[in-house]
Amino acid sequence: MTKLTLAVAVALVSAVFTDAQTPVSKKAWEIQNSSIVIDTHADTPQRFLDENYDMGSTDPKDRGHISLDKAKAGNLGAEFFSIWVEPETNQGHFAHHTLDLIDAVYEQAARHPDRMMMAFSVADIERAHREHKQAALLGIEGGHSIENDIRLLRDYYRLGVRYMTLSWSNTNEFADSSGDINNPKVEHHNGLTDGGKQIVLEMNRLGMLVDISHVADKTFYDAIAVSKAPVIASHSSARALTNHPRNMTDNMLRAVAKNGGVVQVNFYSAFVDENFRKAAEAQAKDRDAATKADAEQLKAAGKTVTYLDGDRVEREWYAKIPRPPLSSLIDHIDHIAKVAGIDHVGLGSDFDGVSGATPEGIDSAADLPKITQSLVDRGYSAGDIRKILGGNLLRAFREAERVSREMPSK
Ligand SMILES: [Zn+2]
Repeated sequence: MTKLTLAVAVALVSAVFTDAQTPVSKKAWEIQNSSIVIDTHADTPQRFLDENYDMGSTDPKDRGHISLDKAKAGNLGAEFFSIWVEPETNQGHFAHHTLDLIDAVYEQAARHPDRMMMAFSVADIERAHREHKQAALLGIEGGHSIENDIRLLRDYYRLGVRYMTLSWSNTNEFADSSGDINNPKVEHHNGLTDGGKQIVLEMNRLGMLVDISHVADKTFYDAIAVSKAPVIASHSSARALTNHPRNMTDNMLRAVAKNGGVVQVNFYSAFVDENFRKAAEAQAKDRDAATKADAEQLKAAGKTVTYLDGDRVEREWYAKIPRPPLSSLIDHIDHIAKVAGIDHVGLGSDFDGVSGATPEGIDSAADLPKITQSLVDRGYSAGDIRKILGGNLLRAFREAERVSREMPSK
């Protein structure tokens, strides 16, 4: 069958087959296309900086998860671009690198004014949707970016940052991280320090969402006790299904529901599939050694080691592990919807931040409709799917904006 006759055949059955295993039905497309689809975590800014990657890329060989074309194909309406500063290589200049990454996102929006716009509010996301533009939002991943200075937090807000993950995998001056909580060499605080609690309240006052992905469990409970606004987990999955400390326990899921927040499911294979997690853990030592050896080699050759170098080596290692089925990811959405409730689950892909380790069929933002199809298959209503695709995040964001307006400035 030629490509053309295949296309005609596909049109005849009024379904678009984006993947052999997951055809997307007319019904799923209708839900997808009538939703404001929001993803709360993509690491694409590393690419903007390190490889001069452009959102307008049409390179069919590009392995990245996000481009304007891919976003359009999946009807992705808003993306929170992650402003993530690697804490080892950027020692001494976290703020500088934070500003470079923020600039890189603005430059992308400036290059594509007809297809992309910076967004700072719920109203902006809705406007971008009406104008058929990709809304670009900023989220800082890791409190170390503020260099323990609440003034920098306010500056970042003024530059447009609308969430901050209290910690990345490293414990910082005010928040313990799940990434090093069992490392006795790291000085911990038993959750959030008093200063950390002030930072949470200042984020509430500014209208910056408090993101609890990556934090240690105690930090999570401290943050949720202090926050006057809904919190988000910008990219976290369920620990009951995949036993990773980055994932959230059922108790944590229920606490987010009580707080009115939302848990945005991470697509990373090691967070959504127990078999993949175990296999990835088993090769971790060798994988890390290979990444380190590669970096040393580059340094010896006088080259700068970037995020993408590590990414390249990790891809080779992850490729040795069978990809989990898409149903593993859907199981997490399903579980969080059951435990926390349908109003408290959304999508936080971690696109461009997982070295290609995503479930089968999910190779870029263009594949998001397959998630919608899977939810249709599991009996979710159109209204409930719209909540998962973005409605819940908009509600939490709107509430954080309202809380901000009601908190007095000091
Ligand atoms: Zn992350």
